[in-house]
Amino acid sequence: MKKQPVAIGYLERFAADYERESGNISIPEIPVRNGIKIAVVGSGPAGLSFAGDMIKLGYSVTVFEALHEIGGVLKYGIPEFRLPNAIVDVEIDNLRKMGVEFIPDCIIGKTLTYDDLHEMNFKGIFVASGAGLPRFMNIPGENLIGIMSSNEYLTRVNLMDAANPESDTPVIKGKNVAIIGGGNTAMDSVRTARRLGAQRAMIIYRRSEEEMPARIEEIKHAKEEGVEFLTLHNPIEYIGDERGRVRQMRLQKMELGEPDASGRRSPVPIPNAIETIDVDEVVVSVGVSPNPLVPNSIKGLQISKWGTIVVNQETMRSDLSDIYAGGDIVRGGATVILAMGDGRRAAAAMHEQLQK
Ligand SMILES: Cc1cc2nc3c(=O)[nH]c(=O)nc-3n(C[C@H](O)[C@H](O)[C@H](O)COP(=O)(O)OP(=O)(O)OC[C@H]3O[C@@H](n4cnc5c(N)ncnc54)[C@H](O)[C@@H]3O)c2cc1C
Repeated sequence: MKKQPVAIGYLERFAADYERESGNISIPEIPVRNGIKIAVVGSGPAGLSFAGDMIKLGYSVTVFEALHEIGGVLKYGIPEFRLPNAIVDVEIDNLRKMGVEFIPDCIIGKTLTYDDLHEMNFKGIFVASGAGLPRFMNIPGENLIGIMSSNEYLTRVNLMDAANPESDTPVIKGKNVAIIGGGNTAMDSVRTARRLGAQRAMIIYRRSEEEMPARIEEIKHAKEEGVEFLTLHNPIEYIGDERGRVRQMRLQKMELGEPDASGRRSPVPIPNAIETIDVDEVVVSVGVSPNPLVPNSIKGLQISKWGTIVVNQETMRSDLSDIYAGGDIVRGGATVILAMGDGRRAAAAMHEQLQK
C-alpha cells in the first residue's frame, strides 16, 4: 500500500494499559452456575484464557498450578522489564473476581492424579502444562556449579527474588556470563544478567546473526544494552576449579555450510579453531521440551514423538473424550497469543460437547 506500517502490538498495548490505568475495567456478569465442574492443569496463558471463557459460560472452574505463583511463563519466564508481573496480576485478579478458583502448589500427576480429578467430579479437563523442560547440550563439564538452564535462571530471578542479596535462594551474579543460544529466551536471560551486574554478558551462538531465531527487536535491545555477540562459536567443554565451580569454557569456531532441514545454513566446525574464554556463570538456553509429567501419567493419551499431546486441531480435544489440551504442551515452545487462542477454542468445543 506504500504507506508506513502500523505498530499493531504497541497500539494494542497502549489500549490495554490505558484501560487498566483508568480503572475502567468492568467484570463481566457471570451467569448462574450450571453445577458442572471443570479442571484446568497449568495457569499460563492457555489455562487462563480457557478458564475465563468457561467461567463466563456458567461452569465452576478450578485451575491447578504446580508452582506457588499463578501465571506460567508470563510470570516466571518473561522478565519484569518486558512484562511486569503486576500487569499479569490484574488479569488473574479479574478471573478470581469472576469466580475462578486457583490452587497453587498442586502438581497434577503427583499431588493429584487423573483418577482423583474424576473422583472429585470434574467433568472436563483442559491440560495447559506448557513446555518447561529445559534441554542441555550434554558436553563435558555441564554439571559444574554456576551452569544452569535459562528456565532455572529466569524463574529464580523473576519468581524467587533471587537477585535480592537477602533472599534465601540467591542466584550467582557472574561478572563474565555466557548465555548459550540465539532465541528470545536467550535474549531475556542475557539482558537479565546485564541488569544483575555482569561486566561481560555474552551470547554464544553457533550460526551467524542472520540465522538467529530471536526477534530482531530483542537482538537490537540486547546490543543497545552492551551485550556481546559471539556468533559462529559453539561450546564444547566447561572447565572448573577445585571447588567444582565453572571458570572457563572452550569454544569451537564455526563457519556456515549448506542449508539443513530447517532451511538455515548449517554450522560446520573450522578444524583446530578452538578458543578458551573466562566465565563464572553460564546459562544454557538451547530450547525446551513439553513437560512430560501429565502426558506420561494419563493412560491412553496419544503423545507425539516430540512428547506433545495429540489433539484435534479444530476442537483441541484429545483421544480421551474428557481431556482437551492447548498451548505449548500441544505445540512445543510457541507464543502467548497461540496459547490463548488454543484456550479459547478448547473452551468453545468443550462447552458444545458438554451441552450435548
Ligand atoms: C523466557 C521466555 C520468554 C518468552 N517471551 C515471549 C514473548 O515475548 N512473546 C510470546 O508470545 N511468547 C513468549 N514466550 C513463549 C510463551 O511464553 C509460551 O509460548 C506460553 O507461555 C505458553 O503458554 P502455556 O499456557 O501453554 O504454558 P506456560 O506459560 O508454560 O504455563 C504452563 C503452566 O503449567 C504448570 N504446570 C506444568 N506441569 C504441571 C502439572 N503437572 N500440574 C500443574 N501445573 C503444571 C507450569 O508450572 C506453568 O505455570 C517466552 C517464553 C519464555 C520461556
